[in-house]
Amino acid sequence: MPAPAPHPTSGGPAEVLVVGADLLGQGRADLLLRDGRFADPATAGPAAERLDADGLVALPGLVDLHTHLREPGREDAETVATGTAAAARGGFTAVLAMANTNPVTDTAEAAEHVAELGRREGSAQVVPVGAVSKELGGVELAELGLMARSSAGVRVFSDDGRCVHDARLMRRALEYVRAFDGVIAQHAQDPRLAGPEACCHEGELSGRLGLPGWPAVAESTIVARDVQLAQLTRSRVHICHVSTAETVDVLRWAKARGVDVTAEVAPHHLLLTTAAITGYDPTFKVNPPLRPDEHVAALCDALSDGTIDAVATDHAPHARHDKEHAFGDAASGMLGLETALGVVLETMLLPGRFGWREVAERMSVVPAHIARLAGQGRPLAVGEPANLTLVDPAARRVVDRSASASLSRNNPWHGRELPDPVVATFWGGRATYRR
Ligand SMILES: [Zn+2]
Repeated sequence: MPAPAPHPTSGGPAEVLVVGADLLGQGRADLLLRDGRFADPATAGPAAERLDADGLVALPGLVDLHTHLREPGREDAETVATGTAAAARGGFTAVLAMANTNPVTDTAEAAEHVAELGRREGSAQVVPVGAVSKELGGVELAELGLMARSSAGVRVFSDDGRCVHDARLMRRALEYVRAFDGVIAQHAQDPRLAGPEACCHEGELSGRLGLPGWPAVAESTIVARDVQLAQLTRSRVHICHVSTAETVDVLRWAKARGVDVTAEVAPHHLLLTTAAITGYDPTFKVNPPLRPDEHVAALCDALSDGTIDAVATDHAPHARHDKEHAFGDAASGMLGLETALGVVLETMLLPGRFGWREVAERMSVVPAHIARLAGQGRPLAVGEPANLTLVDPAARRVVDRSASASLSRNNPWHGRELPDPVVATFWGGRATYRR
């Protein structure tokens, strides 16, 4: 008989008393973690472990809408165990696992398998994303209803890595998921304007470097189409990794008209620019590509004012032999889980664009709501699930790619000094990371 799957509350002391944490920067309080939930600190038993949180800020456990865990199929790049360990180090208690695995998560059985791997191996909740189309082929709808009704309870559907470019298929997918409050998460890339070879923002630099251009309009035209389809179908669409000022304009237009659209931005698009690729280092090859300064500024503004709803990592681990090629031939993608909060503090909190409350909103509360995750992104209050991230606002370090829980090393922040805030992460009351 197989051993029972460990429950997140198993192991470690029965109670942890967090003493004097600053809750979302709103004032100090104690937190008692007991049986997977927050309990009244006044009832802490004598055996409770005391964790001195003087000077630390308490946030609800972070939720990542966009993680590539690579299992099943590419366990040489990442596994559920290593990817969620990286998530825990980054302060995350839940990750949405993208469907572009091998096999693709396009059936109820495949979704249940990913969820089960998460329960068995995970240091964070693993929430499977279902594919929109069978085999990500962009032709035939996957089993959306069966995935939604399965024990995995899939609500987010995406062909990420590929764009759902057929407008009729997109319309049908939006109509279908409306019945169970699902959402279609679109990787917006018109394949006729930006094909698989496109790898550099189209402009003066792509010409100078001799790299195939990825024009900004290849993203924004798909987003313009999809927000109108969402309006027509009265359904929900979510735009993955927004990278251009033009897309921000479209999102503003759609939100002003009441379209049910949400959007995410990846940390690398908030801080890195095309300047990073002038040395042809494939570490900085990502899809959509890094953009010039004016786009980065527009993305930061859009995140500040709520036009962009959430930060999501697009954590994309790649094995060495897939990444160490000439720029044009290397795999696209970057690690992100362990550094995401540090980048958000650097770009949004330290310059005064965000307070801690906004950090919690955009990295936990809102992502949990978009994915309809009942037990994540909740208040730090008695009776709620004990998903908690404790952060040291002052800690900084030079990022070292060798010091990572991920199996991969494609870390674009290697050698750069960033905030290094995460001190401890608790998922369902259990410590999944302690510095
Ligand atoms: Zn994508």
